[in-house]
Amino acid sequence: MLISAIRRWRIRRLYNAGEWSKARKECESELATSNYMFAAELMVRCLYNEAQWQALLDFTNHHPESDLGSYTHKAKRKLAEKIEASEGIPEPDHKQDWNATDLLSNWSQEGNRVWLRHPWGWVHWDMPEGFVLGQTHPSLLHLALEVLLSPWVPETKSWDVEARSRGQHHALSYSGGIDSTAAMILMPDNTILAYHERNFTSMLNHSLPYSTFEAIELRTNRRVLRIPSNHEKIRTFSGKQTGFSTANAACVHLILLADHLDLSSIAFGTVIENTWLEKGLKYRDFTQSHYWNYWPKKFEQAGLMYVLPINHITEAGALSICKQSSFSDVVNSCLRGHTGEWCGKCWKCFHKNGPLGRKIDPSSKEISHFLNKKPLRTAQHALWALKVQGLENLAPQLSNHIAKDLSWWEKAYQPGLELIDEPLRSFIEKRTTSYLEWMAEPYALISVDLDV
Ligand SMILES: [Zn+2]
Repeated sequence: MLISAIRRWRIRRLYNAGEWSKARKECESELATSNYMFAAELMVRCLYNEAQWQALLDFTNHHPESDLGSYTHKAKRKLAEKIEASEGIPEPDHKQDWNATDLLSNWSQEGNRVWLRHPWGWVHWDMPEGFVLGQTHPSLLHLALEVLLSPWVPETKSWDVEARSRGQHHALSYSGGIDSTAAMILMPDNTILAYHERNFTSMLNHSLPYSTFEAIELRTNRRVLRIPSNHEKIRTFSGKQTGFSTANAACVHLILLADHLDLSSIAFGTVIENTWLEKGLKYRDFTQSHYWNYWPKKFEQAGLMYVLPINHITEAGALSICKQSSFSDVVNSCLRGHTGEWCGKCWKCFHKNGPLGRKIDPSSKEISHFLNKKPLRTAQHALWALKVQGLENLAPQLSNHIAKDLSWWEKAYQPGLELIDEPLRSFIEKRTTSYLEWMAEPYALISVDLDV
């Protein structure tokens, strides 16, 4: 007993002195002793401090209980960043400087690849055969610049060119996840589905959306257009993590393709949590928001109707629609899964896969971490998800809220339909009614004001 305590003390001293490789070697010989947990956990921390990402992943793979600080997740991210850095960011053959006065001159095309010169470098899109940038209306190119660059180049917000007239077809910015699939189900069947495909190494795994696309193609004959791009790199130049520059950058592939595909609208799988609720916590009159009074007008200038076909539906409603559909077995929002399997440990798995009856590990690091964080992420939905999964014990601090009747959360909010223009509104209303009940007045939604 005493000897093993002395050995732990020695190892801790090495670790605290920054002697990580020595500490790790000592730990190795403790793995077969009663000091196992101590040694295994410290080995993970040493490997992390030594930036030995792959060795760390190999170790936690064999000793999953040793990762007490989400080091596996962090190491995967570091490894992806390292691979990305070695891959470099592609550049066009014909190079030009960023032009701050003639903004549209920053667009160019080489083969099927569309290039955008931005102030810090280049991003690109791989377009379908036959796409011609030169035949794309200037208002679309301006709108694309605004959704991609406005946080850093405010001049991209003021553009005043002849408006584009609307085309013929609806399109949906489709991710393959639950919300997006619910939007697909409520929209007309001839809506064009287009997926933004991150085309560089990252932690996101496309395999689950791909198996969803395959199933959609097989079962309905509808094809999901995939547009590879690295535009999520733009914001990394201002120190942010890879991701969309603005919420509407998620559909920039469709803005650029609007003439090629003859589009009249772009639809989004945005649920109540991001429309009628602020951060999922508090009700707001979305019709009065800056967002709603700004973006649809901008899209209209580019001849595109801005459609929120599930703004009147909660995440629980979206789950219910998918569950009742013919895609219930394939649709999945987890981005950490492998070969058609969800991870069961992430926040998405907790609040989407769990309520669908899929196996998850509610005691995982990430789920426990988010359940104890304030403010609670996607709060109203998280409360419902805890309740329907019978997991109240995981968050005793929320028990008052969970005790309430939350069945209204699975229903649709009629006033949301007013955000959708006719004739689409009646169409979506009819389809909604075939899947969900409507919330009763007075709406419980309006009194949502959570301090959790
Ligand atoms: Zn997951």
